[in-house]
Amino acid sequence: RKKWKKVVNVLRELEEGCETRVERLKQVVDAMAVEMHAGLASEGGSKLKMLLTFVDNLPNGTERGTYYALHLGGTNFRVLRVHLDGQRSSISEHEVEHEVERQPVPQHLMTSTTEDLFDFIASSLKEFIAKEGDGSKLDRRELGFTFSFPVKQMSVSSGILIKWTKGFSIVNMVGRDVAACLQDAVTRKGLDVRVAALVNDTVGTLALGHYHDADTVAAIIIGTGTNACYLERIDSIIKCQGLLTASGHMVVNMEWGNFWSSHLPRTVYDIDLDAESPNPNDQGFEKMISGMYLGDIVRRVILRMSLESDLFGPISPKLSAPFILRTPLMAVMHEDDSPDLREVARILNDIFEIKDVPLKARKVVVKVCDVVTRRAARLAAAGIVGILKKIGRDGSGGITGGRSRSDMKMKRTVVAIEGGLYSSYTMFKEYLHEALEEILGEDIAKHVILKVTEDGSGIGTALLAASYSS
Ligand code: ADP
Repeated sequence: RKKWKKVVNVLRELEEGCETRVERLKQVVDAMAVEMHAGLASEGGSKLKMLLTFVDNLPNGTERGTYYALHLGGTNFRVLRVHLDGQRSSISEHEVEHEVERQPVPQHLMTSTTEDLFDFIASSLKEFIAKEGDGSKLDRRELGFTFSFPVKQMSVSSGILIKWTKGFSIVNMVGRDVAACLQDAVTRKGLDVRVAALVNDTVGTLALGHYHDADTVAAIIIGTGTNACYLERIDSIIKCQGLLTASGHMVVNMEWGNFWSSHLPRTVYDIDLDAESPNPNDQGFEKMISGMYLGDIVRRVILRMSLESDLFGPISPKLSAPFILRTPLMAVMHEDDSPDLREVARILNDIFEIKDVPLKARKVVVKVCDVVTRRAARLAAAGIVGILKKIGRDGSGGITGGRSRSDMKMKRTVVAIEGGLYSSYTMFKEYLHEALEEILGEDIAKHVILKVTEDGSGIGTALLAASYSS
């Protein structure tokens, strides 16, 4: 009996530690907007890097031709080809004509050498092109490279890697020009392909979002990792003093995974996860939100419960194996609607080798998944509102002549969103929407539209290769 009480205590502590009432979320919103300002003011002014992308024009539908994209970022590596006829009508939602091939990034390449990694990428491209057969009469091909790690861009088609994230760690790569590495590898394979654009995945997503809907102002990715970008006025980017763009705007890659604020609700599990990660004190926001980490937070809570009570049987050594519980399986447990929580029992058995867990303990596991996912989704929502606030689209500014908040004209605002957590984890998506509405209020929230794109980052990058090819 006493043992059960201990489990309940662990759960209660977790709930308290993960508390995200709307007041707290609003503090996170403000902190995000403040950090954005600081990151734009000076290099190193904030944990938010607010990286320049040199993308000053987003695709508008007049692009034409065949273009390629390679996408390296998380779980899957992708090669794409898009066909553009220059005729996209402004209201059409129909897809950009494209072909895509996906394959998992071989685990060993994530920690191998630059040459191995880029040879793998270039070989995949070569095979992809070879399958076109003789029908294709392109001489030289233009390609965009979607690379979802922080890069300091020198131009739209060059930039150096700042650091690895999401479990990648290849020595001697940090500080090198990513586009040049790819260009060399592609040339070594004898391909006449030019790397025309080096693009963060969020920027690709924004490009495709904007191609379909000109009210798109920002893009968010919540998959293995998490990040965001948005369209900023060039005169707000203080740190690039003197730089002008024809449009007066530039897309800024926030690298928001590294956002930090004392208002973020942090638990001992987050602290331990961070300390044991290869990048401690880094990517703090990402470690609370993205797919790489959520399952592992849950594992840590179950381990703690198992240490304090015998409800989970003898302590399974599997409970101490980092990252053994993947987020998609955590989602399956969370969304198990069978009366006896059969899926929860199966996964506890398959992953942790914990057998015969009583129903009430299974219910606790579901609750743990719920608490962890709810916090993640609500923090992501606060981050999104932080961006809207920075660009004056949160409905809080611009009230003139004493008009009430509800009278105010709020511009239709579209945010492109992509990634497995949002697109495949229903509870995550629902919690995110719920929090957006709580923070913004119903009247404002109805003008904010989240639009899912699939392979948007890749297709959007090919669109940018089209815009920026010579
Ligand atoms: P990337 O790895 O490039 O970020 P995605 O955006 O497709 O690719 O995200 C994949 C990630 O999303 C996985 O690593 C996983 O953590 C998470 N994910 C995928 N499907 C689900 C799901 N059904 N439930 C919860 N998380 C999921």
